[in-house]
Amino acid sequence: MTDSFDAVVIGAGVIGASVALELARSGRSVVVVDKGPSAGSGSTSASVSIVRFSYSTLDSVLTAWEAAAMWHDWAGHLGIVDPAGMVRFVRTGMCIFNTPDANIERIRRLWDDVGIPYSIADIDSLRALLPGVDLGAYFPPKRIDDPAFADETDRELTALIDEESGFVDDPMLAACNLAFAARQHGAQFRFHHQVVSIDRSHNGSENCVVGVSLAGGDRIKAPVVINVGGPHSSLLNKMAGVADGMRIGNRPLRQEVFTVSAPAGLRLEDGLPAVADLDLGQYIRPQAGGTWLVGGTEAQCDVLHWVDDPDDFDEYPTVEQFEVSMMRLARRVPEFGVPHRPVGLAALYDVADDWVPIYDKSDLPGFFMACGTSGNQFKNAPIVGQFIRDIIDAEQAGTDHDEQPVQFLGKRTARLINLGAFSRRRDKTETSGTVMG
Ligand SMILES: Cc1cc2nc3c(=O)[nH]c(=O)nc-3n(C[C@H](O)[C@H](O)[C@H](O)COP(=O)(O)OP(=O)(O)OC[C@H]3O[C@@H](n4cnc5c(N)ncnc54)[C@H](O)[C@@H]3O)c2cc1C
Repeated sequence: MTDSFDAVVIGAGVIGASVALELARSGRSVVVVDKGPSAGSGSTSASVSIVRFSYSTLDSVLTAWEAAAMWHDWAGHLGIVDPAGMVRFVRTGMCIFNTPDANIERIRRLWDDVGIPYSIADIDSLRALLPGVDLGAYFPPKRIDDPAFADETDRELTALIDEESGFVDDPMLAACNLAFAARQHGAQFRFHHQVVSIDRSHNGSENCVVGVSLAGGDRIKAPVVINVGGPHSSLLNKMAGVADGMRIGNRPLRQEVFTVSAPAGLRLEDGLPAVADLDLGQYIRPQAGGTWLVGGTEAQCDVLHWVDDPDDFDEYPTVEQFEVSMMRLARRVPEFGVPHRPVGLAALYDVADDWVPIYDKSDLPGFFMACGTSGNQFKNAPIVGQFIRDIIDAEQAGTDHDEQPVQFLGKRTARLINLGAFSRRRDKTETSGTVMG
């Protein structure tokens, strides 16, 4: 069977569903193909879904600040209310401890430029905000078998605080909301279908994408194909033959996130902000029900677990990483009761060489990509659909996005975001080398 559409989106994660919504809203016929069972069932389902603005470049800060406004008015952004339920943005604020890795001064300069409000908390205000927390500065982070792990310190932390950060309370539902809205504009979703080939025409100089082939033999014809395959996106780029034309590559990285009981006084209900503790190499995100999600921030002492085959990795947390994470927590929060066994998950980031996403065209005309999301782009999903739409619009109108990068006008700030900052051909962003971006 062969069908024809204006665009095929590969992947129905939170970003793929957003791309589908914006392309369908622009009047295109769109089909989304996903090998999984539903929208958001890929890496989106594992997301910690923190919405924050602490990135190291102006375009990334502007992007996150603009996208946050879309989460604030979710029904307005979707243009409809999903009867299955709507996600909520939960404002917690964010506390970023002032350590060398956190680059607080650079973030402050960027926030001043964009107009993001913040304050600097001294030790007394931090004690009030984080009761029972040990505010010693232990940088650099250490493994627990390092004899220096237990060293005492007489240095104390300060922190950068913003009141606007928070989280989205159900990442998978966010993808389903976007898919629901996209369907209202005619987008089709085909689940349990795997793309096995990116089809191109080979008529002399007319070398361009013409659609995709699915396992089972069906084909879908389209002049535009967008790779939003999450941790599988580097495989799809290779399948399309475009990986060699990229100066920035991307590959899957295994990550573990633990769920632990929050000590009294440090719960979401107590007003605990999300905490970026690069001093010890991890972050804490409170959630309803008196628990925290705890993840790592790629401290230099920690081994990164790169994965060759995104279909073959251990989805269960390891005792080894659990112990490191819990001991670090116990160092920071002496009252913390270390659980007996790991509760949590392991999932994959799709990490770009410089931890900045790739939102771009490719060297194959008609083949676009939203990939390399580096564990930090859930928050930007609503605006990324619009980025990709604008890049496709520009290319179809005859503008070469490589030569003349699209400038996206942010509604909240009336500032231009240079989409060339997310090019596959950019120079490596030197200020970003971890999930913090
Ligand atoms: C543990 C973890 C914590 C995170 N925490 C945060 C956070 O706090 N804040 C934040 O902003 N971001 C966070 N992120 C990052 C964010 O969740 C991701 O960037 C985002 O969810 C990626 O969405 P996506 O749509 O690109 O990919 P995915 O959700 O992975 O979707 C890709 C889809 O493509 C499909 N697919 C792949 N190959 C094929 C094929 N050949 N044929 C058909 N279908 C295919 C898959 O089945 C999948 O459904 C986190 C990520 C992880 C893993």
